[in-house]
Amino acid sequence: MASRGSTYGIIGAVRPARPVDELAAELGPGAVLRADRDDTTGYVTPARGPTGGPVDVVRPATTEEVRTVVRWAREHGTRVLAQGANSGLVGASTPPRHPGDLVVLSTERLRRGAVVDPVDRTAVVPAGLRRSELDELAAPHGLWFPIDLGADPSLGGMVATNTGGARMLRHGDVRRRTLGVEVVLADEAVSVLDTLRTFRKDNRGIDLTDVVVGSSGALGVVTRVAVDLAVRPDETACAWVPLRRAEDALVLLGHLERRLDPLLAAFEVVSAAALDAAATAGHPLDVGGAPWAALVEVAGPVGSGDALVAAAGSAPVDTSAALLLPPARAWAPRHSISEGLARAGTVVGHDVAVPRAALPALVSDTAAVVAAGWPEATFADFGHWGDGGVHLNVVFPHGHPVGDDVVDAVHDAVFAVAVEQHGGTFSAEHGIGPANAAWWRRTTPPVAVALRTSLRTACDPLGILGHPGLP
Ligand SMILES: Cc1cc2nc3c(=O)[nH]c(=O)nc-3n(C[C@H](O)[C@H](O)[C@H](O)COP(=O)(O)OP(=O)(O)OC[C@H]3O[C@@H](n4cnc5c(N)ncnc54)[C@H](O)[C@@H]3O)c2cc1C
Repeated sequence: MASRGSTYGIIGAVRPARPVDELAAELGPGAVLRADRDDTTGYVTPARGPTGGPVDVVRPATTEEVRTVVRWAREHGTRVLAQGANSGLVGASTPPRHPGDLVVLSTERLRRGAVVDPVDRTAVVPAGLRRSELDELAAPHGLWFPIDLGADPSLGGMVATNTGGARMLRHGDVRRRTLGVEVVLADEAVSVLDTLRTFRKDNRGIDLTDVVVGSSGALGVVTRVAVDLAVRPDETACAWVPLRRAEDALVLLGHLERRLDPLLAAFEVVSAAALDAAATAGHPLDVGGAPWAALVEVAGPVGSGDALVAAAGSAPVDTSAALLLPPARAWAPRHSISEGLARAGTVVGHDVAVPRAALPALVSDTAAVVAAGWPEATFADFGHWGDGGVHLNVVFPHGHPVGDDVVDAVHDAVFAVAVEQHGGTFSAEHGIGPANAAWWRRTTPPVAVALRTSLRTACDPLGILGHPGLP
């Protein structure tokens, strides 16, 4: 990602006063970055998709300061777009090209007061803390936050998008591991909804924590999060298994689940095109020309690696060419696919999920649709087959014009295969944003749209929260 801004101004330059200067005066030095003075590139440059137009950035450091920002925004009719690590992939964390009256509220200074409770195996953390930083705090207690992915998002962003990640098969998604939240609403009182709790059982009716998880910043600004940590495994072992047919992946998965449960932590399937991308990003993996390969991880007590070897040895598919690798070495190709694809050209990405049995047909049907419609593009699929999720990427070579009309047409074609042909979802784990909002509108029943609108109106009657492209 691009570098973050500095707070230094040009000495002697005269800048007209703007409403955001009121906030700068109230919140103190470093809290406001002005688009006309500071480098705000990193806040308008997404991990994927078009760069946003210039906006001011506000960086509150406490929940009370977040309330100050929201109160100010209500007074001025300014939209507030919450942003964590800006690693989201559906365009929801950066402003549109023409942002209008909008500020980015970065949570990067919401970092104080993280508490890990080793007896409870829980943590309460500020929204701006990164996933890796929570792990550092949990590690001395033999614990970790097991939602693991190729980026290092903020905890607030993870709650807002309900991150899945590579180990969802074993540890669930963020919804499953979130015990409570603290959220600043944009209602008249600028209320703080506080469901922070660290016990795991709470049956007092509608679970508002669950409602906030996955809401993409549309209901409020998440300021603190209570999470369920997991015990660090004593032993982790990984193997790449080359596969001759996509169907073999499901046979292997079923076998490993029966033989290894509960040790099986991840089951990823990667196409040859995706492995080629990993190689260009510096992490080649030789799978002997196989069209797909599965990355299998087991984690648990000492001996888990032996259990993997035994289970692979008795698999009903050919595993003789399997590569046992140390975990860091095994995951490096998987985690560098996105970087490799971005180097290859313009990526039009899709994050879909279907019932697991439909995965092989989904992949081949999508490849056929892409080849027929956009023969100049490369199709690369990879993802979390263990939980039915797969990333379907259409990569146009550098220099090939990819306008909004092309992007929309590719999205429509690929989502139609996943949703209409195979009964799946157009957003498996990346949440909702401008990149897939049209499909939310197209596929969400009127009663669900009405309920969501009522919720948004209750939390934010002026409609100032979230990306303007959210449904
Ligand atoms: C290389 C790479 C690999 C990835 N792999 C995965 C993966 O395996 N699984 C997966 O699920 N995702 C994956 N992602 C996507 C991304 O990392 C997740 O969506 C992540 O949870 C976003 O967190 P963030 O802090 O970066 O949020 P941002 O990108 O800053 O924001 C995302 C959304 O959350 C909202 N938001 C952020 N913070 C707050 C807050 N405090 N309160 C309210 N709303 C807020 C934003 O407005 C926006 O709508 C990957 C991304 C990259 C670049």
